[in-house]
Amino acid sequence: MKPIVEFRKVTKRFGDLVIFEDFDFHVNPGEKVALVGPSGSGKTTVLRILMTLEKIQGGVVTIDGEPLWHEMRNEELVPASEAHLRRMRKNVGMVFQHFNLFPHMSVLRNVTEAPVHVLGLNREEANERALELLNMVGLAEKADAHPAQLSGGQKQRVAIARALAMRPRIMLFDEPTSALDPELVGEVLNVIEQLAQEHDLTMLLVTHEMWFAEEVADRVCFFDHGRIVEEGDPARIFHEPRNPRTQEFLRAVM
Ligand code: ADP
Repeated sequence: MKPIVEFRKVTKRFGDLVIFEDFDFHVNPGEKVALVGPSGSGKTTVLRILMTLEKIQGGVVTIDGEPLWHEMRNEELVPASEAHLRRMRKNVGMVFQHFNLFPHMSVLRNVTEAPVHVLGLNREEANERALELLNMVGLAEKADAHPAQLSGGQKQRVAIARALAMRPRIMLFDEPTSALDPELVGEVLNVIEQLAQEHDLTMLLVTHEMWFAEEVADRVCFFDHGRIVEEGDPARIFHEPRNPRTQEFLRAVM
């Protein structure tokens, strides 16, 4: 099967700090992959590179076989054009730790803004699709509310609906529950789990909820210092880890 996402020999640095060197990673279409491991090991950077929020300094990152960046300029790979990058970005939706909703817009407007302005849907189509998605995340009745009137869990569910409204093929979740009060975690994970049942959608999930990773992921990748030191079936990784770093980390968190 041709991977939908592929990192080949990727180098990523922040100034002198080397995050990835010769980093290889791939995701098959429809696969749900959990990225776990200690803080600072590079998990979020993988998502940010795919979202084109970070550039790389070497190697290749492809989506569906097409590279995000093409040529080196000032020691950084740059895209062929802004138009290319915009087109590539449409494949990918991201849900952040801190929701990032537009505070001055209604919930409905938050979900319809990009489909109208980026995909060129008319308002009516966009509203209809947004209501379906809000219904799916259990928030249709909040369509006219503003983000400030919602709980953290509700805000995160709106953020999920907003990302899905762009019809991405790949959804990235960056610790989607880490900013939530414990009693609100379940409602967000339920929505993500429901999405994971959709076979076409490819999902990459950075999470500290190991039980959840075990439940939804097809594969777990354990990161340590910018390397995947162990990966495989979630039950195997979580219950019979082989790598000493994985063993140590899991002992501390599980
Ligand atoms: P994780 O998601 O596993 O916690 P990250 O991908 O967020 O790790 O970060 C990997 C490393 O990159 C960390 O050491 C972090 O401090 C560093 N880093 C991330 N973003 C930046 C940035 N914008 N500038 C400098 N260093 C950064």
